[in-house]
Amino acid sequence: MAANRVKGTYDVLPSESYKWVALETKIREILSLYNLKEIRTPMMEYSNVFHRDSEGSDMVTKETYDFVDRSNRALTLRPEGTAGVIRSYVENKLYASQELEKVYYIGPNFRYERPGKGRYRQFSQFGVEAIGTVDPALDAEMIILAYDFIKRLGLKGVKVRVNTLGDQESRDRYQEALVKHFTPHIHELCEDCKNRIDKNPLRILDCKIDYKHESVINAPTPLDLLNDASRAYFDEVKSHLEMCGIDYVIAPKLVRGLDYYSHTVFEIEADIKGFGAANVLGGGGRYQKLVSELGGPDLGGIGFAFGMERLLMALEANHIELNEDVEVDCFVITFSKELKKIGTKILYDLRQENFVSDMNYTAKSFKGQLKQALRFNSKYLIILGDEEYARGVVGIKDTKTEIQEEIKIENITAYIKKKMEK
Ligand code: AMP
Repeated sequence: MAANRVKGTYDVLPSESYKWVALETKIREILSLYNLKEIRTPMMEYSNVFHRDSEGSDMVTKETYDFVDRSNRALTLRPEGTAGVIRSYVENKLYASQELEKVYYIGPNFRYERPGKGRYRQFSQFGVEAIGTVDPALDAEMIILAYDFIKRLGLKGVKVRVNTLGDQESRDRYQEALVKHFTPHIHELCEDCKNRIDKNPLRILDCKIDYKHESVINAPTPLDLLNDASRAYFDEVKSHLEMCGIDYVIAPKLVRGLDYYSHTVFEIEADIKGFGAANVLGGGGRYQKLVSELGGPDLGGIGFAFGMERLLMALEANHIELNEDVEVDCFVITFSKELKKIGTKILYDLRQENFVSDMNYTAKSFKGQLKQALRFNSKYLIILGDEEYARGVVGIKDTKTEIQEEIKIENITAYIKKKMEK
């Protein structure tokens, strides 16, 4: 049987993996500046962590990988990071020791979506959650962090879009206005939207089929229906952003149709040529009901998530290399089984001094070994032939200058050290 990867998944090959490592390192570096700590939660949860009564999103109703384990437990591979983090926050009573918990996560998620450019069934996100406090300054901090992150990566052509849904009262008013607005047109909209009008009318605004319908284009926005307290909250968020000179735009139609959002919502869009539908790099918002729905106290949080694959695509489109792949400092070339032992010792000594070192294990011809060394961009070749060994020396060749010198075996590491210092 030919073994193929699962549809919608991909391999990170050895020649590409350094890009992932570099991005993850950068993420950790930037997030620690904001005093965030990493949280690692399981990739599977009991299904009810994601399938909650209030949850009406397509992602959760249609796209999750649900299965029953051998003991008949209903489990789900996580489709996103927030619900698992909140489950852990509640289960571990993190609210008891800190009034505000600020965490981040990095890891794979699973969604049974139609795969396409920048859309996979297993994909990775990094995300941030600040749980326990409701304060416009915190909403602003999350947007500032997302903005700062993009800036530090050096990505150009990125837009930060911000909106508010207001508090529960404003949201209820808005939902009512949407129902009133869409009812006369509902027969012209898609089947999904016909259901959405009862369950979660906000989601009609996110519809991938009806987004060009006149009723969607002319729909009221949450800003039209904010109560005074919600307007004041949003003004405060904006004034924090302006204080820092954050370049953002108000996106009145941005609602991020998940049921649990209230107040601030935002999205980071890449306006990059050739990106097409994969242009949303990340997004998030404030939530109030999630913590209590998962059995915790009535505490709010705010968070966002970025798609790692899309960040890597955006870096590539901007010709940004976060880090070069590791190059080999020394490559040992030997020919006999006997001398391989000496080679092993030379490698061990070089690695003790933190030089990236390797040798050939298949006893190829000199030409074959040389080719391999050059493929790794090796800086020095350490050539250990029978004749040299008999004299207690090796030939060390600088692959750039092509100059070769004879060095005593016991002096190899010292010689490389000296060379590398220059
Ligand atoms: P969401 O959790 O749906 O708000 O998505 C947040 C970000 O994760 C998106 O902006 C994308 O960058 C990324 N993302 C979501 N779904 C996928 C997917 N199926 N494949 C790749 N990236 C995704």
